[in-house]
Amino acid sequence: MSGHTIVNVGYRSTHFWVISAGSNRLLVDLGWPGRWGELVANLRRMDIPLYEIRYGLATHYHIDHAGAAQDMKNAGVPLLVMDAQVEAIPLMARHTKPADNYTEILPDDNLVISCAESRGLLAEIGLAGQILRTPGHSSDSVSLLLDSGEVFTGDLTHPSYFSVEEPAVVAASWRLLRQKGALRVHPGHRPIFPIQAIPTNL
Ligand SMILES: [Zn+2]
Repeated sequence: MSGHTIVNVGYRSTHFWVISAGSNRLLVDLGWPGRWGELVANLRRMDIPLYEIRYGLATHYHIDHAGAAQDMKNAGVPLLVMDAQVEAIPLMARHTKPADNYTEILPDDNLVISCAESRGLLAEIGLAGQILRTPGHSSDSVSLLLDSGEVFTGDLTHPSYFSVEEPAVVAASWRLLRQKGALRVHPGHRPIFPIQAIPTNL
């Protein structure tokens, strides 16, 4: 398996990652509602052709991560949805205001797969890795874990903020990622940090 590159095309204090294996690319987290154009502008600045993005995956269906999902689909990029996320999609709209210009996500043309199927799908676009369920921040949260150890965790809670969410669920998700080989954590809003920053005795 050849190498891959990682580029952050985020804006508004939120990271959106393009992981590329040559000209096959995966977008992890999709942008704020009504602001798809800002992500497209960042892609252009980084010389990443939109048409090379094979799929967009949201780590979870909160508006800062998935608010632009339908705009992305309308621009020709298929939405990859984990089966554990399907029910969360329609609920996201409740957290949008008319001024957000949110485009409702259509349910019928998404590619829905299970975590067990994720390795095969990623291999088709040249990426060695898997998508794992990592609940805690939200029940629909998933992480993309590459075999190289890079992991994209969305808002999976950093231990510094444990008090605000269910600590046992969050701890189990971190244990799973560590067990599966996570090394470098790419969170949704904070700087990249090593997995060693997560205490082992959670
Ligand atoms: Zn969130």
